Amino acid sequence: MLQLTNVSAQYKTLTGTVKAVERVDFTVEKNEIFGIAGESGCGKSTLLKVMYDLISYPLEISEGSVQIQTKDKHGSTVTLPNGKIHESWWKVISYVPQGAMHVMNPVIRIRNQFFDAISKYHDKTDKKALEQEIIRYLKELELPPEVLKAYPHQLSGGMRQRVLIALATFLNPEIVLADEPTTALDVVVQRGILTMLSRVQKKMKNSMVIVSHDMGVHYQITNRLGIMYAGQMIEIGPTEQIFNNPKHPYTKMLINALPRVGDNSQKEGIPGTPPSLRNPPAGCRFAARCPLAEERCRTHEPVPVSVGQRHVASCHLL
Ligand code: SF4
Ligand code: MG
Repeated sequence: MLQLTNVSAQYKTLTGTVKAVERVDFTVEKNEIFGIAGESGCGKSTLLKVMYDLISYPLEISEGSVQIQTKDKHGSTVTLPNGKIHESWWKVISYVPQGAMHVMNPVIRIRNQFFDAISKYHDKTDKKALEQEIIRYLKELELPPEVLKAYPHQLSGGMRQRVLIALATFLNPEIVLADEPTTALDVVVQRGILTMLSRVQKKMKNSMVIVSHDMGVHYQITNRLGIMYAGQMIEIGPTEQIFNNPKHPYTKMLINALPRVGDNSQKEGIPGTPPSLRNPPAGCRFAARCPLAEERCRTHEPVPVSVGQRHVASCHLL
């Protein structure tokens, strides 16, 4: 469905090049929710932009490719490469950016935000029918149609996020990307958003990619999970495997840091900070924080190895 092959992306800044994503390789399949986890600054959001073909200065793809397999209007399979994917925004692939607060135009009513987004795919003369269709869809998602009359600031944070998800999924795209869809919302509202996302996915049977620093979010709704560290994907596997049988030392520490019901022990974060992406160290990028690091870890970069069914991780000890 969506394939990333050895993708690296960087930001060219006045003070140097920041290698935000390095040699990332994975495929998002049809009818799955794929999660991307990791600490802030590890390259999750950049990776999502790369997948969405949202590339503009200072961000650039320095190697590798992104491809989407889809069908054209005659039903034949076509491949959209990066650089072309943006021509199919909303219809084939859509994106729910981080911060529902800031991404909608504050002086445009929700109704017109819908019209703007989908005008390319609909006959503009038939606005009434289109509005009826939007209302029908909002109701299906249990959103009150009155939101169409509102300006973004008149809606609560949770409602804005729901409206954004409705907007992104209205045209039934094959792939939906969401960046931190629950961050900055309270727990009850978060639950509602997650339920909405998984209901939409079950109904449309499309692919979703959810970026979140919150492992609880991944546990609740993703089918497969990729763990990023300092710009690299260090482990990918079925979510259940990642939680029950994590293989990379970093993933193990992330999972062990999670609170569990009935466990009152003091949870510790992972000591230290990730390396700078301007000048990443040789060898394994986790070496400075890894309790198991050996000499070779500081000189040789580990490569991904298979550690189970559809489960890969990059560590010399595996
Ligand atoms: Fe730790 Fe070495 Fe594995 Fe990196 S390669 S995670 S430093 S043991
Ligand atoms: Mg981010």
